[in-house]
Amino acid sequence: MIRENYEEVCANIRKACERAGRDPKEVTLVCVSKTHPAAEVQECYDAGARIFGENKVQEMTGKMDELPDDIQWHMIGHLQRNKVKYIVGRVALIHSVDSYRLAEEINIQAKKKGIRVPVLIEVNYAGEETKFGVRPEDTEQLIRDIAERLDGIEVQGLMTSAPFTADPEEVRPVFRGMKELLVDINSKKIDNISMKTLSMGMTNDYIQAVEEGSTMVRVGTAIFGARNYRA
Ligand SMILES: *Cc1c(COP(=O)(O)O)cnc(C)c1O
Repeated sequence: MIRENYEEVCANIRKACERAGRDPKEVTLVCVSKTHPAAEVQECYDAGARIFGENKVQEMTGKMDELPDDIQWHMIGHLQRNKVKYIVGRVALIHSVDSYRLAEEINIQAKKKGIRVPVLIEVNYAGEETKFGVRPEDTEQLIRDIAERLDGIEVQGLMTSAPFTADPEEVRPVFRGMKELLVDINSKKIDNISMKTLSMGMTNDYIQAVEEGSTMVRVGTAIFGARNYRA
């Protein structure tokens, strides 16, 4: 089933791109494998996937050790500063930078390893209390502070999780607003900042997100099935 699901999600992304007049190469699929065992991740890999997203450091590093080396791992969940050292140098992208303090710690670990770490800034677009992320109106200042002082970090774009709605059509304004925020911040010509990535769209709303300009969707349930948090 995982192969068929993966292929269907890829096809849906291609169709959404066609409808929107976009090149499907502009959209990257991150297969969100959190809570699913390595054997299932391997099935998805065998179907062609190479980019996987996890939200817990220990689970992610465990799977890194078990699975093929050419996988690009993305950290998509809230990251505690004391765990940063375990993933810097091992993850391809951190989607969830939501404070200067976290960025500082990533910078320290990046310097130790002599690398630059690609990150996205997580935006809590709708101001939901249950979600992490910076407010849209604070996003530019955080990016300016990082660009000025933390040269071990490369801000590649913005990430958000839209509010869950029964009808995903309702979240289009969130996706449009995120796209505007990205274009607006890019237009400020901040030194070293030229953001290309807009990480938005999950199982419930990735088709709408692609139609509205997402360049990276994070899809779990539609590929791997429902998560069992007791396991
Ligand atoms: C779990 C998760 C996803 C995937 O959610 P699905 O609804 O299963 O597709 C995407 N992004 C983040 C940040 C997540 O934590």
